[in-house]
Amino acid sequence: MANLPQDGNFDDIPDEIEGVPILKIGFKQAIGDDSPEHVAAYRHGKIYLNAKSDHWLNPITKMAEVAGFLSSSDPNHPIYHELGHALHERRNKALFIFARRIKIDAEIAVQVSAYACENGQEFVAEVYAGIQTGHVYTNEVMTHYRHLGGG
Ligand SMILES: [Zn+2]
Repeated sequence: MANLPQDGNFDDIPDEIEGVPILKIGFKQAIGDDSPEHVAAYRHGKIYLNAKSDHWLNPITKMAEVAGFLSSSDPNHPIYHELGHALHERRNKALFIFARRIKIDAEIAVQVSAYACENGQEFVAEVYAGIQTGHVYTNEVMTHYRHLGGG
């Protein structure tokens, strides 16, 4: 896990995976904030935590604000989500790259979360975070998860 330099600006750190922002999109959509801050991000084998994000001051409240958009309201969801990306890439890099370019059938992805509908990468990360926080998914969700290299 990588920490930001104390004098660092989180915006200076690559915050996208090939053009797709990670939690920035989710929080923007969920709370209607025009200038959302990153809570965490994954890029090239490293998970970045934005220690300056207000999320970490009160993660329980912050996660309650985005309830329904993500697959859990666990205060550590952002960490699990980014870890899901990291493990996905480690497990099968080709499928990790492929997954970003596809959308999961909406009837299946919506069983996980709204964010899981974004693309295959977010689907895998959201399923992983869901599993880590005690969610049990249908066989069709788990089949898609495995086929995309999620485990
Ligand atoms: Zn993500």
